[in-house]
Amino acid sequence: MSYPYDAPASADLFERAAAVTPGGVNSPVRAFRAVGGTPRFMASGAGPWITDVDGRRYVDLVSSWGPMILGHAHPAVVAAVTEAASRGFSFGTPTAGEVELAAEIVERAGVEQVRLVNSGTEAVLSAIRLARGATGRSVVVKFAGCYHGHVDALLAAAGSGVATLGLPDTPGVTTGAAADTIVLPYNDVAAVEAVFAERGSEIAVVATEAAAGNMGVVPPLEGFNAELRRITAAHGALLLVDEVMTGFRVSRAGWRGHEHYDADLVTFGKVMGGGLPAAAFGGRRELMQQLAPLGPVYQAGTLAGNPVAVAAGLTTLRHCTDEVYARCDAVAATISGALTEALTEAGVAHRLQTAGSMFSVFFVPDGRAVRDYDDARTQETARHTAFFHSMLADGVYLPPSAFESWFVNAAMDDEAVQHVLDALPAAARAAAAAAPGTAPAVSHDAQALQP
Ligand SMILES: *Cc1c(COP(=O)(O)O)cnc(C)c1O
Repeated sequence: MSYPYDAPASADLFERAAAVTPGGVNSPVRAFRAVGGTPRFMASGAGPWITDVDGRRYVDLVSSWGPMILGHAHPAVVAAVTEAASRGFSFGTPTAGEVELAAEIVERAGVEQVRLVNSGTEAVLSAIRLARGATGRSVVVKFAGCYHGHVDALLAAAGSGVATLGLPDTPGVTTGAAADTIVLPYNDVAAVEAVFAERGSEIAVVATEAAAGNMGVVPPLEGFNAELRRITAAHGALLLVDEVMTGFRVSRAGWRGHEHYDADLVTFGKVMGGGLPAAAFGGRRELMQQLAPLGPVYQAGTLAGNPVAVAAGLTTLRHCTDEVYARCDAVAATISGALTEALTEAGVAHRLQTAGSMFSVFFVPDGRAVRDYDDARTQETARHTAFFHSMLADGVYLPPSAFESWFVNAAMDDEAVQHVLDALPAAARAAAAAAPGTAPAVSHDAQALQP
């Protein structure tokens, strides 16, 4: 089975969308600009499959960029959301579900208190404000290629869409905000030591992804997170570990299930909302209690802890059992193993990297380990583009970017997995045939990349 390249219903919607929405999308990577062609407008999802408005079915390896760990329209989550909605959507008062969700996060993730917000971006910006308020310092240290949402202070050298689109440094972010941000290479302890030696007393917080997934998957080198803990503590700075992507996805405790780390602040999102908008930030009680109404650091939200979103998140987490994680791990191992085999067979140099069940393939010419953003940018993105379109035509929906993780879900049964495996050899041959070009191979003219 192979779908034709044209997708008329999606194309029609995309044209209408472009008239009323910048770029036709509400989040940049969705627009297919890095891979060219028409972004697929999805109409529905069930389990591991999603169906677009042209009626084509795809095995979904994006899983809404992480949240849909149980697959689409999981019956228990649908029931919980329906039940919650039937009781009213929002009250602007505390509700019982918020207590349950906070307790579930606290129990799993090793933080003492959490506050619920609406998006990962909001979780990170709130945590940064708290860190600055608590330390009385301004400077934030982040790592190139890590993405923490579109927070002003953290957009410099960001991963995810900023990397995908090869954007220049962040117009719209004030020089003040940029001046308070120091960007260092990921996995480079010496660079962290050096910047603390120079400016240690000004640094409020070091922000890092628990395991980087927004420049493709780049796990922390052994000891990196521990060194960040040691250095920040020695200088009275805080450590923010961003688990928005890894949290409750790579284990029931998130990245902490793979590597025990100690952090002052942790941010969550994606899986904990189960596909509805919910996120959180948390940390030690005495630090969190510096937030209003107990403390002076202000943070609030009209829809924070929304009852319908909380129902989706709580039910999702409660169904994230050991069996769910075991299934995700097994599916990821099968697909990533077949992926690297197919690429090797086709003679395509590449590097496969994993962080739990998150994985991605880097089309790096020498197949060397990717340890930071500079390494990630040596990719031959044209190979990814050819690979992506071949998979799409064969009914597999991959991230439309060479700088994003693939996300499996526990609803992927043997039929869905086999569907992916069957599509890999042709995609690998397409990647082999593609004219190599390295980053920034991303064109701002999508047409130029259309196969
Ligand atoms: C997705 C993501 C965010 C931003 O979350 P949104 O809900 O998109 O605002 C922040 N940090 C990390 C690590 C992420 O992967």
